[in-house]
Amino acid sequence: MPDILMRCPHTGKPVQTGLDTETVRFETLPSIAIPVKCPHCGEVHFWKPTEAWVWEGGSPLQH
Ligand SMILES: [Zn+2]
Repeated sequence: MPDILMRCPHTGKPVQTGLDTETVRFETLPSIAIPVKCPHCGEVHFWKPTEAWVWEGGSPLQH
């Protein structure tokens, strides 16, 4: 199941949002800020679907 990722604004690393395309339809996510606890810097980031992407395998660094 492809994960939905966003990028940590501090480290530039991909962060799993906890959502995947099995549970949500990425295209239909509302354009609102969604909080996610970042494993890289420990802060909570707010991401919007317009800033996120679907990781379908391979390296998540290759956006
Ligand atoms: Zn972060």
